[in-house]
Amino acid sequence: MKLIDGKETAARVKEEIAAEIARRAAEGKKTPHLVALLVGNDPASETYVAAKVKACQLVGMKSTELRFPADATAEQLIETIDRLNSDDDVDGYIIQLPLPPHLPADDLLGRVDPAKDVDGFHPFNVGKMMLGLPAHLPATPAGILELLHRHRVETAGRHCVIVGRSNIVGTPLAVLMSRKSPRANCTVTLCHGATPDLKTFTLQADILVVAIGVPRFITPDMVKQGAVVIDVGVHRVPAPTKSGYRLVGDVDFENVAPRCSAITPVPGGVGPMTIASLLRNTLEAAR
Ligand code: NAP
Repeated sequence: MKLIDGKETAARVKEEIAAEIARRAAEGKKTPHLVALLVGNDPASETYVAAKVKACQLVGMKSTELRFPADATAEQLIETIDRLNSDDDVDGYIIQLPLPPHLPADDLLGRVDPAKDVDGFHPFNVGKMMLGLPAHLPATPAGILELLHRHRVETAGRHCVIVGRSNIVGTPLAVLMSRKSPRANCTVTLCHGATPDLKTFTLQADILVVAIGVPRFITPDMVKQGAVVIDVGVHRVPAPTKSGYRLVGDVDFENVAPRCSAITPVPGGVGPMTIASLLRNTLEAAR
């Protein structure tokens, strides 16, 4: 079994990004600038935004964190979005999800300038992605494709089964993995909560991607011998550690790993690649 080390792969991607930012600086070009909007105090969102800001610092990218209270109004956010859209110093920005339920997430995401939509969530970018046109790709699916490519996982003609159909992971990944491109060209099955007898499908997967949000849901009896398993889930579970918890994924790693030809760990798998993809999108926006 081979471990698909996302932390190490993301470090290499970040080195490449840092080198290009340094080259740009030497040519007198502006430093790419990423802005993150964070509403409320959701601990997971705080952690994700802090990790994104830290990654920007590492590659020499400018970053700004804009914080709003949990009871911020849609008008306050719209005013900020409009300002960011017209600020030439800002190359890209993200609205950290989930937003508090009183805020109209779809309307706010739809107001982001598609050229600065480095999360790839704007309907314009989603539509371009569907058509195979150049667009900011959503960071997690883009990171998974990069991870498969850099770890030389053969995709063409293989059966990729994706469990979970969210708009940020499962659905765009199904589109990307089925594309007629050297990095994809899979036969794709997209499973979800209404899929009967899920195991029938997961057992057919040459490449199994799991993004369902249920800790250790995928057990060894659901995985074909020799499959490549990509675990998107991230969960804190109580553990006798200093912090009182440890991170696990949607896959029962310890028991599934021996059946796999390759598998991503949690932490250190998909998560770091998501951040690396966000940085790459921001660099592309600056270009
Ligand atoms: P989500 O919005 O939480 O939706 C879960 C999806 O899984 C839904 O499509 C749901 O089906 C499906 N599902 C849930 N239980 C199922 C079951 N028992 N059998 C089959 N399908 C089931 O998905 P998400 O936002 O993609 O998040 C999934 C996980 O990935 C979470 O743990 C999240 O924290 C993590 N995540 C990690 C990263 C990263 O960078 N590492 C990025 C994004 C998300 P229905 O549609 O029928 O409800």
